[in-house]
Amino acid sequence: TTHLVWFRNDLRVNDNLALAAACRDPHARVVGLFIATPGQWRQHDMAPRQAEFIWQHVQSLSHALAQRGIELRVHEVADFNACAEYLKSFCEQQHIDALFYNYQYELNERQRDAAVEKALGRDVVCQGFDDSVLLPPGSVTTGNHEMYKVFTPFSKAFIKRLHEGLPECVPAPKAREITLPEPEILREFDYSRQPIDESLFPIGEQQAINQLRQFCRQPVADYEQQRDFPAIDGTSRLSAYLATGVLSPRQCLHRLLKEHPQALEGGSGSIWLNELIWREFYRHLLVAYPKLCRHQPFISWTDNVVWRQDESQFLAWQQGKTGFPIVDAAMRQLNTTGWMHNRLRMVVASFLVKDLLCDWRRGERYFMSQLIDGDLAANNGGWQWAASTGTDAAPYFRIFNPTTQGERFDAQGEFIRRWLPELTDVPDKYIHTPWVWAEKQQLKLDYPRPIVEHKQARIATLAAYEAARKS
Ligand code: FAD
Repeated sequence: TTHLVWFRNDLRVNDNLALAAACRDPHARVVGLFIATPGQWRQHDMAPRQAEFIWQHVQSLSHALAQRGIELRVHEVADFNACAEYLKSFCEQQHIDALFYNYQYELNERQRDAAVEKALGRDVVCQGFDDSVLLPPGSVTTGNHEMYKVFTPFSKAFIKRLHEGLPECVPAPKAREITLPEPEILREFDYSRQPIDESLFPIGEQQAINQLRQFCRQPVADYEQQRDFPAIDGTSRLSAYLATGVLSPRQCLHRLLKEHPQALEGGSGSIWLNELIWREFYRHLLVAYPKLCRHQPFISWTDNVVWRQDESQFLAWQQGKTGFPIVDAAMRQLNTTGWMHNRLRMVVASFLVKDLLCDWRRGERYFMSQLIDGDLAANNGGWQWAASTGTDAAPYFRIFNPTTQGERFDAQGEFIRRWLPELTDVPDKYIHTPWVWAEKQQLKLDYPRPIVEHKQARIATLAAYEAARKS
């Protein structure tokens, strides 16, 4: 018998449910396949940095599989529509008896998988696995069997479920009794790739595991105190590995509990666990509310907000030239590294939507086009939270003040100066309002004045939301 493992967002050999299941029969020949779909990636605005990250990890996956006697084939088709036909012919050629794959929960992905299963018909037995989550979507529900719309009760129910039984990790498959030739050099994807700073995002499954171990040893205990300060390296920086499946959430959970056994009881490590549960919350929501994948707001009336279409303001936001130092430093971190600190993602998203009254979907798209950890569920969830259009979102009348956010979370401007060298000489006291200092000193800074007046912007936004709610 021949088993096929179709790799997608699960580019690892450890704790990979589909791979482990395919390898269970020691006599089966196991073949892996990765299908690049550049046309689809373009439609989904995948960041060239994420394409590079995936490309590199497909390569290291290919080596890790080869060492275990599993060949990885890499093929490219235009988009998801072309997958079914390709898989059908691949399965025929390779005499595949069974297909193993890990679910993806986004709408297009689910439609693609349904089409593939249909095309393969009875000839190939297909098995899917809930691998990228701790608990399957639909398994954590209210008494009425509905998906929670508010995070805290979801999280409580989630932890209760974990107490009843932890999802176990499966080991990497043992080497099969077959020697394979060295894996082929990967052909270029037809997609632009942008170099990654490997000191921030080292390539390789083992590197991700090491980073997880190191984080769970100590930093996770200080996470609660440090996670909101972008100048501190206080978060795990594992998001890109989780988004592409180089690491699994079960690996994170078990490593956390090994070092901090009280994390499930609210002890040390529980705040980080809570973030992993946010990740689950947004994934479960996608399945319960597919409209979230269709660019629709969760709260329908928010679609009536009349957004301002000011291209120059949008451009200033993208480029980090708004005149609000914390916003600009954050956007430059994103543009330069493909990653942004969570506190700052909330600040810049709020600024775009609530200060510039820009449609949140434009920000969501721009983030996707830049993020190395771009993930539809988390990104959409984050944007809808910030725009007050989502489940359990910030109420629309709660609007961040970008200057006070900077003062609270980067008081001395350490992070700001790292990304805005033009503000190096501005004294701490004025680092969040450099234009005030420049005027006093009668200096001309190589840095823009604020493109909006926050107080007025706030009033205009409240009015726009209020009007939408009433209409
Ligand atoms: P840690 O603080 O160490 O958290 C551990 C892991 O938990 C993360 O790697 C991530 O997988 C998950 N996580 C943490 N916070 C959240 C959250 N709020 N929602 C969902 N999962 C979370 N995260 C993405 O992975 N991809 C995105 O495209 C993305 N877009 C976002 C957009 C906005 C507007 C906002 C406000 C947040 C977004 N997030 C996104 C969530 C969060 O900002 C990142 O997961 C986090 O900053 C990644 O850094 P870390 O790995 O050091 O996180």
